[in-house]
Amino acid sequence: MRRIAIIGAGASGLFLSRLLREQPDMEIYLFDRCKQVGTKLRASGGGKANIFNTNIFPEGYNHPDFAAKVLEKVTPDRLRQAFDSFGLAMCADEEGRVYPLTQFSQTVVDILWNPEHPRINPVLEYEVSHLTYQDNRWHINDYPTAFDSVVLASGTPANIIPKNRKNYNNYLSTLQLYTHPWVPSLVGFKIKDYPALLSGCRVKAIASLYQGRDLIHKEFGEITFKDDGISGIVILNLSAYYNRLDDKRDCHISLNFMYHDTALDIEKHLLRHGSLQGILHPKLNALYERKPFDVRDFKMDISEPYDLTFAQVCHGGIDLSEVDDNLMIKRHPNLFAMGEILDMDGICGGYNLFFAFATAIMVAEGL
Ligand SMILES: Cc1cc2nc3c(=O)[nH]c(=O)nc-3n(C[C@H](O)[C@H](O)[C@H](O)COP(=O)(O)OP(=O)(O)OC[C@H]3O[C@@H](n4cnc5c(N)ncnc54)[C@H](O)[C@@H]3O)c2cc1C
Repeated sequence: MRRIAIIGAGASGLFLSRLLREQPDMEIYLFDRCKQVGTKLRASGGGKANIFNTNIFPEGYNHPDFAAKVLEKVTPDRLRQAFDSFGLAMCADEEGRVYPLTQFSQTVVDILWNPEHPRINPVLEYEVSHLTYQDNRWHINDYPTAFDSVVLASGTPANIIPKNRKNYNNYLSTLQLYTHPWVPSLVGFKIKDYPALLSGCRVKAIASLYQGRDLIHKEFGEITFKDDGISGIVILNLSAYYNRLDDKRDCHISLNFMYHDTALDIEKHLLRHGSLQGILHPKLNALYERKPFDVRDFKMDISEPYDLTFAQVCHGGIDLSEVDDNLMIKRHPNLFAMGEILDMDGICGGYNLFFAFATAIMVAEGL
């Protein structure tokens, strides 16, 4: 019997345990620092879990080449078939975002997790703090069982409050891997000289991220104005592209509120109606009356992204040069890494859960 330890009972860890429990020669130990499994999976998609997308494109990730290699091995259709074989009914929206038919993330956790299964050993409320390799076996802290293989699936400190993210993934230092610092991604931005009167306003706009005069990325969608900055899915996506810049100076976001009418002549409209109250959200109009701005190019200078606590994922993690094509760590035997702990992050729309599940399939094959 081969003993496999998975560190982290999150999206990728649960999925891998579901795949491996079919293997009669494997005994699986699933370690998690929390009492509950799948915390982020349950929180994902506003509680509905957008588990993948039917149209994943490699450029949606910070390392498109690596993403392309993953997609060569695991297509969205292959992932759909895997979920199908577990008995999960799914539905997709018009943008290819796939959800469980129940529209309830707990359903996904329930089909992946069976702590009573004879080959699954849950080790919960257990924080892994160091790993050692001795006599051809892996040892976890002072846990009494030694393991043939270990899979690192402990994710990142995104969306975790500061007191709970202290020493997060510190055990990585015992492995001496090349890692990149955790940086918040899929997160809103604090804005310099922010007009606080916009707080609470929600509007649709085309949002463009610029560095100096260079357009980095542009998207259409809903913007949420907060007390000191902006958020919303389009802004979260802009943060993913912002993180890909080596030098982040001189970045601003431009909002075009007139996306619906490119021909509208603002000067004529003002002459005719005396104000923009018929075409702008009341809070934007109040701001305009105080200090007119270009409604097609409302510039907001980025101060900084919001803190990790508000991020959906992290940019950073284990450098991709550390893993081989089966996601085995090259410098250590029988050690694998999958999911967000790798230096891969994607945009909103099912990209990050797809990566977690697809890499779990790759590790299952490697094992
Ligand atoms: C609010 C929110 C909404 C999201 N919505 C979506 C969405 O709709 N679609 C999408 O694709 N992605 C979404 N994501 C991102 C997605 O949830 C993550 O990318 C995904 O869960 C990562 O899976 P993972 O297995 O790598 O890590 P996780 O799911 O984070 O699991 C890691 C596990 O490891 C455990 N752990 C950590 N350190 C240790 C340790 N030292 N010892 C033992 N256990 C440890 C943790 O407790 C955790 O259970 C969302 C994220 C958030 C926060």
